Amino acid sequence: MNTEFNINAQTQLFIGPTNETIEFVHNALQNVFCKNNGCKTCVRCSQIRQNEHPSIFWLKPEKQYTLDQLEIIFEKITFTLDEDEKFFIIFESADLLNQACSNKLLKSIEEPKPGYYFLFLSQRKEQILPTIRSRCITTYFYNENEGSQNSELFNFFINPNSSPLIFLKTLDKINISEQDSIELLDGLIKHWSTNAKQALLNNDNDSYMHASHVIDILESGFSKPPMPGSSKTFWKNLYLKIQN
Ligand SMILES: [Zn+2]
Repeated sequence: MNTEFNINAQTQLFIGPTNETIEFVHNALQNVFCKNNGCKTCVRCSQIRQNEHPSIFWLKPEKQYTLDQLEIIFEKITFTLDEDEKFFIIFESADLLNQACSNKLLKSIEEPKPGYYFLFLSQRKEQILPTIRSRCITTYFYNENEGSQNSELFNFFINPNSSPLIFLKTLDKINISEQDSIELLDGLIKHWSTNAKQALLNNDNDSYMHASHVIDILESGFSKPPMPGSSKTFWKNLYLKIQN
């Protein structure tokens, strides 16, 4: 599956087989920190693979995550990073974050401070508490379930050059529920809001206007969410509005 790491999103959820998600995140981090495009052989790359890089906290639970385990994060993020500095906090087996831990994390992931990234890895999205899920851009590594269908649709809505014809064909063969539609909508609005913010920072007015335009249309979808059975029409209409 051809997926790219979205460096603009500070909170991300990766759903898929454990080995695959770990491999993907390791590669993404190597591309961020390695001076040779993620060469896999330098000191930084090997620190990353061993989860020993100084700008990464890679957390794994024993049985469940504990509040004590999270303290190290809260201590760390009291520090403001230098401009261009990045710090990653990874939760392997994020499904083992219980309610108490998730609640404690919410504030930090709601508005992450510049440069801080929170990446959550899990095998199934249903096992991630909705409070966390709703705040993350989600990438799926499964091929045969609705999750990957969502991510297929997602890609059409973030790629300005996607083909309407292929979009309609794709839409035709998938099944997307109302609940999934809302989640997808939420993820897309977060994606485009991040893009808009970034465009503002870069003084890129055209990109900013485009992102705002897309956000307006997506938000209009929230005010008229799909009724049972009408998800496909819903997505088709949004897509056509954005294309025009
Ligand atoms: Zn390297």
